[in-house]
This record gives sequence, structure tokens and C-alpha cells, in this order.
Amino acid sequence: MPRMTLRNILLHPDPRLKKACEPVAEVNAKIRDLANDMLETMYDAPGVGLAGPQVGVLKRIFVIDCAEKDAAPDPMILINPEITWVSEELNTYDEGCLSIPEIYEPVTRPEMVRMSYLDADGKLHEDEFEALHATAVQHELDHLDGILFIDYISKMKREMITNKMKKLKKELARG
Ligand SMILES: [Zn+2]
Repeated sequence: MPRMTLRNILLHPDPRLKKACEPVAEVNAKIRDLANDMLETMYDAPGVGLAGPQVGVLKRIFVIDCAEKDAAPDPMILINPEITWVSEELNTYDEGCLSIPEIYEPVTRPEMVRMSYLDADGKLHEDEFEALHATAVQHELDHLDGILFIDYISKMKREMITNKMKKLKKELARG
């Protein structure tokens, strides 16, 4: 049983959420610890995905678990992920984000994507993701390039959400 620590989730707006992340140079024990912490933090939140920059680590790694509510957990660790194919068909989901709590907005993305990535053992995979899984991996990959789901909605809505988040962060800082 790996030892896990909950990490602090950064809230928007934060400059670290707007940066392009560095590839993981080597999949070692430190990266595996980070991935396990990220899974633990994601389940605790709870959420279906969490990317490195959301816990202040500007590396190309994210975790997801899109299992149905009553199904067995299906944790996935994706390191240095790259999209290798997208479908022409699109899909719209109400997306949310652990860094922008309680905000949900519809975002349209390819319905299916193929993504290559390294797993926690450094083994190369190429998997096809569809429906909710496809949305999740695209949302998380965006985080590694400093893109948030609210970057796809209107500027006016985005500014309203950002102002709301600034207020929330002030309240949280006051305690
Ligand atoms: Zn997110």
C-alpha cells in the first residue's frame, strides 16, 4: 500500500494554472509518489480528473477516474500524454474543474480521441477514449498547456467567473 498525502489544490486565478508544463524526464519513484498523491487528492475532493499544475507541479502528468458511481474504481495515470488522433464528431458536456469549484459550463470537444502516454511504470501506451473519458483526458491535457475550460466560453462569462473566484479566494484566505 503506497503512502499517500493529500495535496493542496490551486484555485483559479493562479499564474501556475496558466503555464505550459515541462515533460516528465524520468518516470521514477518520485513521480509515482506524486501520481498516487494526485489520485488520493482527486478522490478526496471528489473529482474525476486532476493535473500536475493543479497541485503546483508544472509537469506533464494527470490522473483520471471516470468510473460510474457504483462501479469499481478505474484510476489512470497519464504521463507525457499526446493526442495522436481526434474524431470529427463532437460532443458537448457540462464541464467542471477542481480549480474552479461549483462552476459548470458546456464545452464542445471531439467525441473520441486517441492519446499516447507513459504509465506509472514508464511503459508507453496508446489508448482510445470516448464520451466522458474523451472529455476528461482533453480537459486534463489542456491543463498541461495552461488552458482552462473557461477559456472556451465567452469573455464576459469568463470574467464573471474569475471575479467570483477572486472573492471566494479572499473569503478562504480570511478563514
Ligand atoms: Zn480542471
